[in-house]
Amino acid sequence: MFDHLSSLPADPILGLLAAYRADENPRKIDLGVGVYKDEAGHTPVLQAVKEAETRLLRSEETKAYVGPAGTAGFNAAMQELVLGAGHPALVGNRVRSAQTPGGCGALRVLAEFANRAKEHATIWVSDPTWANHVPLLGNAGLQIKSYPYYDRATSSLKFDAMVETLKQVGEGELVLFHACCHNPCGADLSREQWQVLAEMAQKQGFTPFIDMAYQGFGDSLDADAYGLRLMAESVPEMLVAASCSKNFGLYRERVGMAMAIYRDADSADRGQSQLLNVVRGNYSMPPNHGGAIVEAILTDAGLRANWEAELTEMRERINSLRSGLVESLEKAGAVGDFHFIQQQKGMFSFLGITPEQVEKLQQDYSIYMVDSSRISIAGLSQNNMEYFCASVAEVLE
Ligand code: PMP
Repeated sequence: MFDHLSSLPADPILGLLAAYRADENPRKIDLGVGVYKDEAGHTPVLQAVKEAETRLLRSEETKAYVGPAGTAGFNAAMQELVLGAGHPALVGNRVRSAQTPGGCGALRVLAEFANRAKEHATIWVSDPTWANHVPLLGNAGLQIKSYPYYDRATSSLKFDAMVETLKQVGEGELVLFHACCHNPCGADLSREQWQVLAEMAQKQGFTPFIDMAYQGFGDSLDADAYGLRLMAESVPEMLVAASCSKNFGLYRERVGMAMAIYRDADSADRGQSQLLNVVRGNYSMPPNHGGAIVEAILTDAGLRANWEAELTEMRERINSLRSGLVESLEKAGAVGDFHFIQQQKGMFSFLGITPEQVEKLQQDYSIYMVDSSRISIAGLSQNNMEYFCASVAEVLE
């Protein structure tokens, strides 16, 4: 039965990681994988998470099943984190959600849910977008089309072309937006641009589907949700996939939320019964541990303050690396204008060099990044910045 199966090529990022691990050059740098790293190159467990885990270990009395939606406490706290307290959609009792295994679980559940509402519905994604969006959404049955988003030649948004393409999108179609910290390009929509898109969604009737994987990594928890909240005030229906992997550092615990906003409470109850049925037919119910940590942190003032401080520290480190990188590239005499890196947000930016130059950085300097020249900013540090910038300057000569 399985003998005829051919092997698929290895995931490029995992292949890169294996090559990095095997490299014996002490100056090697990994800018491939999208996890936050501190100055020492570690991805630590947050103190607030450790403390929440300690408390849970003491207070937990059962491991009995929770149910397909996860706990009510988790869902209420996450809905408020994402939408902000008192958001009209919450006040109108039009929001329903489920705790999911990571943001990926949320994307997949919502894609299947949307496919139930309208089979093979079209979903428009940005060009470029996170590579895993394609299988997560496409394998659920949705048809994927793309809208222009980022211009690699000028390292800036193609907003006019984006609007021009989205003008043809109407009712029964979905448009995927990155809430903040766009992966892979780091270029986010301005408030004015979100306003234009919200008006288009309202007028044309398409359904926004927002992927929020980096809330708190750009400007602040609230500022990063600005576009999402505005969109949710402007349209009757919307989908949101939220991830707690980055902002709580809970990557391997797999925790996220699939949230839907409906026209009214009655349609919300019907929709939620379908969404939970999708969950039941996939993995039945989410793992509890990560969700219990998030709930504990968000509902305890002390833990929450500690978490927000740690999140701020991660964000500020990334933002200072961004300005440090621009400065050091200039100092190293790298050909080109890299100021765009300072304006961009979150974990990633495209350096904007050719695949041949990327290859040369790997072969000659042991610097690892994906072919597109997307770099994971947090892989840089005070220790490796100078070496990195000098190497880039040399391959750009
Ligand atoms: N969306 C985007 C854009 C991402 O970059 C990621 C993480 N790389 C996710 C969703 C989901 O990640 P996870 O399933 O680990 O929460």
